[in-house]
Amino acid sequence: MSQYTPMMQQYLSIKAQYPDAFLFFRLGDFYEMFFSDAEKAAEELEITLTSRDGGKERIPMCGVPYHSAHTYVEKLIEKGYKVAICEQVENPAAAKGVVKREVVRVITPGTIIEENMLVEQENNFLLALAGFGGTMALAAADLSTGECHVTELSGSLDWIIDEAASYEPKEVLLDEGLHGNDAFREALSGRCKCLVNPLTLEKLVEQELAEELPEQFANFHEVCTSEPLRRVLSMLFAYLKQTQKRTLGHLRRLRRYDAKQFMMLDEAARRNLELTRTLGEGKKRGSLLWLLDQTATAMGSRLLRKWLDKPLLNVSDIKRRQDTVAAFLSDFILLDEAREMLKQVYDLERLAARISFGSANARDLTNVKRSLSVIPHLRERLMRSDHDELAALGEQMDECQALRELIDRAIVDEPPVSVKEGGIMREGYHADLDQLRAIQKDGKSWIAQLEQQEREATGIKSLKIGYNRVFGYYIEVTKSNLQHVPERYQRKQTLANAERFVTPELKEREQLILNAAEKSVEMEYELFTEVRNQVAQEVTRLQHLAEKVAEIDVLQAFAIIAQKYRYVRPEVHQADRLHIKQGRHPVVEAATNVDDFVANDVTLDGDKRQILLITGPNMAGKSTYMRQVALITLMSQIGSYVPAEYAEVSIVDRIFTRIGAADDLIGGRSTFMVEMAETCHALREATSRSLILLDEVGRGTSTYDGMALAHAIVEYIHDHIGAKTLFSTHYHELTELERQLARLVNVHAQCIEKDGKVVFLHRIVPGGADKSYGIHVAELAGLPQPVIHRAKEILGELEGRFHASPEPADPKPDDSAQLSLFDYAAKTTSPAKNETANHVAESEQGNGTTTALLSAKEQ
Ligand code: ADP
Repeated sequence: MSQYTPMMQQYLSIKAQYPDAFLFFRLGDFYEMFFSDAEKAAEELEITLTSRDGGKERIPMCGVPYHSAHTYVEKLIEKGYKVAICEQVENPAAAKGVVKREVVRVITPGTIIEENMLVEQENNFLLALAGFGGTMALAAADLSTGECHVTELSGSLDWIIDEAASYEPKEVLLDEGLHGNDAFREALSGRCKCLVNPLTLEKLVEQELAEELPEQFANFHEVCTSEPLRRVLSMLFAYLKQTQKRTLGHLRRLRRYDAKQFMMLDEAARRNLELTRTLGEGKKRGSLLWLLDQTATAMGSRLLRKWLDKPLLNVSDIKRRQDTVAAFLSDFILLDEAREMLKQVYDLERLAARISFGSANARDLTNVKRSLSVIPHLRERLMRSDHDELAALGEQMDECQALRELIDRAIVDEPPVSVKEGGIMREGYHADLDQLRAIQKDGKSWIAQLEQQEREATGIKSLKIGYNRVFGYYIEVTKSNLQHVPERYQRKQTLANAERFVTPELKEREQLILNAAEKSVEMEYELFTEVRNQVAQEVTRLQHLAEKVAEIDVLQAFAIIAQKYRYVRPEVHQADRLHIKQGRHPVVEAATNVDDFVANDVTLDGDKRQILLITGPNMAGKSTYMRQVALITLMSQIGSYVPAEYAEVSIVDRIFTRIGAADDLIGGRSTFMVEMAETCHALREATSRSLILLDEVGRGTSTYDGMALAHAIVEYIHDHIGAKTLFSTHYHELTELERQLARLVNVHAQCIEKDGKVVFLHRIVPGGADKSYGIHVAELAGLPQPVIHRAKEILGELEGRFHASPEPADPKPDDSAQLSLFDYAAKTTSPAKNETANHVAESEQGNGTTTALLSAKEQ
């Protein structure tokens, strides 16, 4: 150490405390980085790497100007790094030796609060997971909104990972034990796609936290009743303390929930159903969220996402939401007015967070005020409604009148962005400030008067008094008038055409004006922070209001959508019957011409129609149909209306999906492995209250194998699980199962052949499909004609042989050895028919329905 200069020694000792973060070390107007930090930052940020004399050697260095540092911090955070901001904490002019420096905050992906680094419609969760005595607990906090959720999790590790991933966290902390479990850690970071770090709690810290947590969260004892919950919250809070280094006055809302009280959606279901992003490009556009998000505020948008993540299981809770949607729908004028008012409400939740964090500026406060001035009108309007649900929501809104009045009294209507340059506080708010301002104003008119007097006294008409930063106030006289300049003028500066002078009385007045200006700017800053602190005292009220606003917003969005797309209110119940009349796929319908979409019925129950086996060629509409059943169920359970003529929906505890041919390229698993893993997941976890969608299971392997697996899987679901299931397949042979399994029913996607071409009707009708249209689909997909011809020939031959000899009996396990289609076609009769052609068409398809559709539309 001693070989380094004292400043480098200071740097190194601070850096040693933050080995996993880039240390932004403040040096005058720059944040500098040294050693490997500098090398890595230069590369990541594309800035110049230089070096500096550090005593013993030249040290790699790079830096960013402090005023634009946020853009660099943003880039690093986006890339998943952490940044420790180290400031000079004493006045350099007054410092003896090296200026004192301290890290004031560590910014990490899971702890950002800066507006420009966050996505308005998304939460930014930091997660902690801890195990204790065989139970696992989870804590999730969003510093940018001030919410904190905890829960105990008992279930398979897979299920726990699903629950964690549903937060789409930006950062995860694991206790030592969990971090040591390689398989768990890797699966978790794979599914959450974010930083996963260990966190150890030292005894001392734990003791400290035992006192602090009840102060932070008033309901701590009530909520954290078990050791796992206490531990996990302690972990999370310790990390926030370590990184944020300030009191977090807005992080007070601690809620405990039971994951089992919501519908569980695993990552595959979320992805396959395209809930928040499309399968193909991963965009929001084309997802269910995109369709439903007619919210008017950012808070509403975030809440809608949460509702989509956690559909309800409780019928009366669902009905309560539906009642409000119904109320909105019965009064379009009110709906319209409420919506217009909501649009004027800013993101109160995040504003509240920044206010309490001490990073809000005056504009943030005026935005709070503007939002608050809408609330009384909204409240009054809702309370005036004939509907109890709306009146109750209005009633529950806190107008926060005193806050609004305070901000209004204190802050001008259009304050500047900077809080350190004055122009913020309103006239009349504080007498001393008014006085300082008067001095400046008087001073200026005094100077105007002086100018007039001097012109008269000297007879120089062009004489003027000016001001610049270097010389202050001066009297300027052009060269041609210099002979009239009186003795009392003191020469200050010579220009090409003029000379500048001062007088003692001018300088004296200047001092008064400048002092007042400086003082008033300082005072404004003080007064502003005082007001901000006062508002910060009340953030909890703002947060409650924000929650109410968000709820009203989502429910009005449901009403808007229902009205726009002619949705109906589903009858949700616990009975074992799902019945949808003329159901539509919400997103496909919205993306196509509405009249083109073919509506379909579905009935599933525990008695006779537990499993629908759906046959029909590719592109006939099977997966669209399956998805629409799942989406209608899910929409019903979040309280939304649904695209159908009539819907009776039985509550579902989980939705499982095995859809599409998305290869897990990054995970390096083959299509077949993914297919089997997802199916296995469903078979293990599903209950009789679940909904399972299995699309073409078994196609990833050879025909015998595939068919045998598909057969066995359907049987297992029928006999052992009892879950409502939609099973699509192009193995026509499976339609035979209808005779064996009491609760399995065949349906098929209807097609007709016209002029040798296949026309898809997209209609789901009873019975199994009698023919596969793979070759036609391949033709549609543009496969060269010679290939099509040859395929038809082979098909003819195969069909000839197939009819000539009996169908192979139920494939036995040892039959399932890897027979490829070709040995198979060469040596045996085949039920496989046009397998190759089917596969070609599949590979053209691949992506999610809606992605394909949207892109087709946009071409
Ligand atoms: P499959 O699963 O049978 O291969 P898809 O469900 O993927 O078929 O449907 C193929 C395409 O057909 C979809 O992209 C969509 O454009 C269209 N389609 C599906 N169902 C309908 C429907 N009910 N009405 C109109 N078009 C539909």
